[in-house]
Amino acid sequence: MVLLTGGDPMQPAALMQTQAIRTVLNATLPLGTETFLDTLDGLRFGSDLLTPELFALLRKKYSGQHVDLVIAIGNYAAEFARAHHEAIWPGTPILVTSVPDVWLKKVGALPSTFVMIPYHIEIEKTFSIVESLQPSATRLVVIGGTSDLDKRFSDEIVEAAGKTARRWVSIERWEGFSVQELKARLALLDKRTSAVLYGTQYRDREGRRYFPVELVNKIASDAPVPIYGWYANYIEQGAAAGAVYDLEENGRTTGNVAAQMLLSSGQTQQFDASLRTLPALPARCTANIAMLKRLDISENLLEPDCKRLNAPHPAYRQYWKEIVVILFVIGTQAITIFAMLKQRHQRRVAEYDAATRRADLTRASRISTVGELSASIAHEVGQPLGAILSNVDAADLMMQSSDASDAELREILTDVRRDALRANDVIQRLRALLQKQAITFTPVVFDTVLERATSLVKPEARRRGIVLQMSFGAPDARVLADQVQLQQVLLNLAINAMDAMENSEQKDRELSIGTRHAKEGVELVVADRGTGIPADNVEQLFEAFYTTKERGTGLGLSIVRSIADAHRGAVSALPRSGGGTEFVLWLPLASAEFDQTHLRGSEAASV
Ligand code: ADP
Repeated sequence: MVLLTGGDPMQPAALMQTQAIRTVLNATLPLGTETFLDTLDGLRFGSDLLTPELFALLRKKYSGQHVDLVIAIGNYAAEFARAHHEAIWPGTPILVTSVPDVWLKKVGALPSTFVMIPYHIEIEKTFSIVESLQPSATRLVVIGGTSDLDKRFSDEIVEAAGKTARRWVSIERWEGFSVQELKARLALLDKRTSAVLYGTQYRDREGRRYFPVELVNKIASDAPVPIYGWYANYIEQGAAAGAVYDLEENGRTTGNVAAQMLLSSGQTQQFDASLRTLPALPARCTANIAMLKRLDISENLLEPDCKRLNAPHPAYRQYWKEIVVILFVIGTQAITIFAMLKQRHQRRVAEYDAATRRADLTRASRISTVGELSASIAHEVGQPLGAILSNVDAADLMMQSSDASDAELREILTDVRRDALRANDVIQRLRALLQKQAITFTPVVFDTVLERATSLVKPEARRRGIVLQMSFGAPDARVLADQVQLQQVLLNLAINAMDAMENSEQKDRELSIGTRHAKEGVELVVADRGTGIPADNVEQLFEAFYTTKERGTGLGLSIVRSIADAHRGAVSALPRSGGGTEFVLWLPLASAEFDQTHLRGSEAASV
C-alpha cells in the first residue's frame, strides 16, 4: 500500500489522520499491511515545481513493486494520482481522501479505478455559529496565507460571507501577515463589532512557511475577539468555534474503505461510478468552552448538540482520585474515632462496673466487720437498755410507795433519757455504717470522724480485755474524705490489731489509736503488741484473699488500701520495736478549693 500525501505528513492534523488510518487497518487486517509513504509537500512547494522529478522518482521506485492500493491524501496528491497513476501504478486502485467535494466538480469524471472520500467545508454553517455568538458583529476579518490553497480558502470564505443573511458593513482580508502583525491587529478589535474567520495560512508575505494550526494557538490565546475555524484541531488549539471537518474521523473512514479495498484485491478493481464517491463527511459545530469563557461569551448561545471541547470539568471529575483518597482518609479516621469512642465508652462502663463492685465489696466487708463486732455491739446497746429497765422499775416502786418526790423522779427520767440516747447513738452509728449511700467526698475534720468510730471499737476492746489508748493530735486537720469509708479503715485496722493480740499476754494487750500531723497531710496510726508481721513481705498482707486466720476473708487490708487510693492517700505496715505492728494511713490535707475532679470521679458508685 502506498500513502501519498499532498502536504507535509508530519503536520499535526496529518499525523492524526494517518494514525487513524493505520489503527483501523491494523485492527481489520490480521496480517497487517506493508506501507510506503511518499509526500509531495505541494502545500509548501507548489504543485508544479518538483512534479517532473517526483514523477520520475516514484515511477522508478515502484517499477518492480506490486502495489494493491494507493491512498492519495489531499488535493495535491489527488491531482498527482489522477495525472500519473497509470504510469506509476498501472491498474492499481486509488483511494482519494481529504479533498473537498468542489474539487470533484472541477475535475469532472475520475478514472474507474478511483474511489473518493470527499469532505464538505460548510462555511455557511460556521457563519451561523458567528450569528449566534456575535449577533451584533458587522465587521468581518478573514485571515489567510499567501499560498494557492490559502488564497482559495479565503476566496471561498469571502464569497460565502456575501451570501449570509447578515449585511457585513466591511469585509477585510488579512493576507499573509506575520504572527506579530496579526497579534497587534487583533488586539485592536472589539468583540461586539468584529468577527474573525481564519482559513489556512501555509505561507506568509515574507515566504515564511507554517502549519496552519500552529498559527491558531499563537494568535488566539490572547486575542480580545473569538476566532472561527474549520478543523477540529483549530478548535483544540484555541479557535473559539466553527463548523469543523474532523480529520481523525476522515482517517477512520479512509481506513475502513482501504481495508475493504485491500481485502477484495485480486478481484476486479473497477468501481461502479455510483460507488466511487462516498458521501462527503459533514462539518460539525464544535466550540472551545474555555476560550468562550475567557472571552465572556455564554456557551448557552451555542446550539445544544454543538460538541464542547475544553469544558471545565466539575471538580469531582478533575480531582476524583484526590477526592477518593480524602474520603478514604476521612472514612478511616471516622472509623478510628468511632472505635475509640466506643472503647472509651466501654472503658467508662467497665470503670463504673468496677467502682460499683468495689463499693459493694467494701460495704459487704463493713457488714461483716459489724458482724464481728456484734457481741460487743449487743453489749453496748444492751447495757443502756438494761439501765433504762432498772431505772423504770425503780421509778415504778417509788410511785407505788408514793414517797417519790418529783425531784427524784426527774433524776430517774434524766438517766433514762441519757441511756436511751446512748443506745440510740450506737444504733445510729451502725446504721450509718451499714446504709447503702453514695460515696461523697467532703472536707471533714480528720480527728472528729475517727473519734466517732472509736465508739464501736471501745466496747469490743473492753470485751476482749484489751486496753485502748487514744491520742488524737490533729484536731484542726481537714481532709477531703468519705466519712463512712474513713471510719471503715479505722475499724478494719483496729479489729486486725485486736485479732493479732488474741494470744498475747495481758501486759501486752494494748491497742493504740492516734492521729498526728505529717508531711503535707495527716496520719492515722493503729499500733498493737501482737504477733507482728514478716518484715520481708509486708505487701502480701494487702493482697485480696490473703489471710492467716481460720475464718478470715483476706479482704480487710485490700479494702483499706483501695480506700486509701480513692482518697489519694497511702497505707503502710511497719514492724514495731518491742513487738507488734503499726499501721499508718496517710491522707493529704484538703486543699482550699474543693477538689471537683475527685468528686466527679467517685460519685458514681454507692455504698
Ligand atoms: P483478714 O483479717 O480477713 O485475714 P486482712 O486483709 O484484714 O484479712 O488481713 C490479712 C492478713 O494480714 C491477716 O490474716 C493477718 O495475717 C495479717 N495482719 C493484718 N493485720 C495485722 C496485724 N495488726 N498484726 C499482724 N498481722 C496482721
